[in-house]
Amino acid sequence: MLVLLDRDGVLNENRDDYVKSPGELVMLPGAAQAVARLNGAGHHVAICTNQSAVGRGIVQPAMLERIHETLREHLARAGARIDLLLACTDPPWAASDRRKPGPGMLQEAMRQFRVGPHDTVMIGDDLVDLQAAMRAGIRRILVRTGKGRKTQAAGIPAEVLPVAVHDDLAAAVASLLGA
Ligand SMILES: [Mg+2]
Repeated sequence: MLVLLDRDGVLNENRDDYVKSPGELVMLPGAAQAVARLNGAGHHVAICTNQSAVGRGIVQPAMLERIHETLREHLARAGARIDLLLACTDPPWAASDRRKPGPGMLQEAMRQFRVGPHDTVMIGDDLVDLQAAMRAGIRRILVRTGKGRKTQAAGIPAEVLPVAVHDDLAAAVASLLGA
């Protein structure tokens, strides 16, 4: 199975003013351990994250790389790794189909691992994650961390259903692994 993860609000705390430095990257409890469980079960794990802060000129590309090195270090401390990290830096006013809710990044990950939509799942905290997954034809999980509670409270639109909802990444992974 290929497990696609959103970053902010799934692995680390979401910030309304963007994660702008490694110090602002605060891991959510249990998230790294959940990735380690997926690794241990032999699943591919890829991040698909919108990072418009780069396209908006708020975060430089080299800083985004540093933030992602720090993310990999946090994961490694829990024995976890991500197999692929895709980030779309498009600003909303010049968005390609890689920017969620477009399906482009998700399809790119599936191509890289030669995995089809029926063997892929997307885990996110925002409606755009669910919409991107729906457009890519893959299974959808909403976690209630980050923006997740707000996303659920706003009402999940009928066109992206069915959506499984879990409290956090650890609970989502437990359900995927059947334990
Ligand atoms: Mg998010």
